[in-house]
Amino acid sequence: MKYLSTRGDQTPRGFSDILLEGLAPDGGLYLPTHYPKVDAATLARWRSLSYADLAFEILSLYIDDIPTADLRALVQKTYTREVFGTDAVVPLRRVEDGILIEALSNGPTLAFKDMAMQLLGNLFEYELARRGEELNILGATSGDTGSAAEYAMRGKRGVRVFMLSPKGRMSAFQQAQMFSLQDANIHNLSIEGVFDDCQDIVKAVSSDLDFKRRWKIGTVNSINWARLLAQVVYYFAGYFQATKTNAESVSFAVPSGNFGNVCAGHVARMMGLPIHRLVVATNENDVLDEFFRTGTYRVRGTAETHETSSPSMDISKASNFERFVFDLLGRDGARTKALFADAIARDGGFTLTADEFNRVAGFGFVSGRSTHADRLATIRDAWQRCGTMIDTHTADGLKVAREHLDAGVPMIVLETALPAKFAETIREALGREPERPAGLEGIEALPKRFTVLPADTDRVMAYIESHCD
Ligand SMILES: *Cc1c(COP(=O)(O)O)cnc(C)c1O
Repeated sequence: MKYLSTRGDQTPRGFSDILLEGLAPDGGLYLPTHYPKVDAATLARWRSLSYADLAFEILSLYIDDIPTADLRALVQKTYTREVFGTDAVVPLRRVEDGILIEALSNGPTLAFKDMAMQLLGNLFEYELARRGEELNILGATSGDTGSAAEYAMRGKRGVRVFMLSPKGRMSAFQQAQMFSLQDANIHNLSIEGVFDDCQDIVKAVSSDLDFKRRWKIGTVNSINWARLLAQVVYYFAGYFQATKTNAESVSFAVPSGNFGNVCAGHVARMMGLPIHRLVVATNENDVLDEFFRTGTYRVRGTAETHETSSPSMDISKASNFERFVFDLLGRDGARTKALFADAIARDGGFTLTADEFNRVAGFGFVSGRSTHADRLATIRDAWQRCGTMIDTHTADGLKVAREHLDAGVPMIVLETALPAKFAETIREALGREPERPAGLEGIEALPKRFTVLPADTDRVMAYIESHCD
């Protein structure tokens, strides 16, 4: 399998070439040259596989430059009961007739990002050892991504993580999760500023190409193809659990921000998994809902980006969205570039032609939005009537899922985080503390390991230099 860019660069690259990279050199995102089709016999055979074996089958369709035995070992080491809590790895539970929740958040940081990041940690370690290279991952986080990256990379040879977070602005639980890590290769930098200051520093460091090359600076952001590929697996696993035969179809409702999660659903559907609808659920930051309703994609400014109680969906633009639009436009790289490079820079967005927009329905997408009041009502209803406690992001998914039910088609809502991470809103909705998984009871009292720095790029660079040896 080779990979190309959504903006027209056709230089063939292998999986291992793009694994450690971010954007393609022309500014586009990497996609495989085609989506392998899964026929009925293969789908039937996959139905009885364990999660790790299923992951191996799907990954090996897209990865042909890692020896089979090595890839199998990497996948088997990743998707275990020890890491994800159950043999099923992503078990389904019933909410009410026709609606199921797929648990993707039982990994170490209690959010679905572990599903991909845990694999990425093992792939990075493997590939860096193979090349005899090292990588310093630099990132900014206000919560989920940073902790998932740290738990994936902790103790890994050849990798260091420098994670910037705004001092005093994360929840006590999230801070405890990250700062309690004692691994020597994990560096928590608590920046005296807000999240945007952290992000600006990461951008400034990354645009200093000399520094970047010299200190081998990389990222693990959501545009990484390997992350997206790892997520394709749980769409298949959810489908097999919700159905008895491959004649049935299901729909998925996906709490969305950067469009990484639901884009994996799009890939699964392109491979032939019987997915009826892909329901894109947004919060008040409704860039994606607006697009799927109107055909207009409009990037928001900082002032227009709301801080909500489902904070991991608070985005101003959806960084993986370009992948879907490229497929929608019949893989026309020039048109994709005209929209994402030119029109966004010039006008802050674009509107598809009527003909282009009419094709969206053929890809199964529908959408909806949810507000703070909807989240509270949905969390309350799920707890009181259905007996299940859900987090704020999953509540957005469930709220919008209910607007798109079709008789006879099971709706699977992806659980993207556990309620323990968002205690404040759970208290507001239910007047009680969220359930906390065993082993995390006293996490806030653990010793913390972090360094406070001013919001100053030079100081962060100096810290990196003095901790890379
Ligand atoms: C990252 C995240 C999302 C959004 O996922 P995308 O892939 O960015 O669309 C939703 N919910 C939670 C809890 C997350 O951490």
